Amino acid sequence: MTSTCGTYAGYQQHHAKGEKACTSCTAANTAYHARLRQTRAADPKAADRAGHGKGSTYRNCGCRCQPCRLANSADGRARRQKERAS
Ligand SMILES: [Zn+2]
Ligand SMILES: [Zn+2]
Repeated sequence: MTSTCGTYAGYQQHHAKGEKACTSCTAANTAYHARLRQTRAADPKAADRAGHGKGSTYRNCGCRCQPCRLANSADGRARRQKERAS
């Protein structure tokens, strides 16, 4: 346990040190991402700023427009192909 445990920063510190995050840090990380998703859902322009036609916009901004959906499925295909190749 460190003084930052139970925060998202604490979670990142565990990873920086190559440790498995403790329970309170894992919970903080989950809450952080849930909050991030809510913020993005409440801010449709976030996807515009990130740019459409990108898998990351689909995943991170929750954009479900046609170019973003296509890019996300292309990302999934590329990832599967890489896994097969290795
Ligand atoms: Zn911790
Ligand atoms: Zn989009």
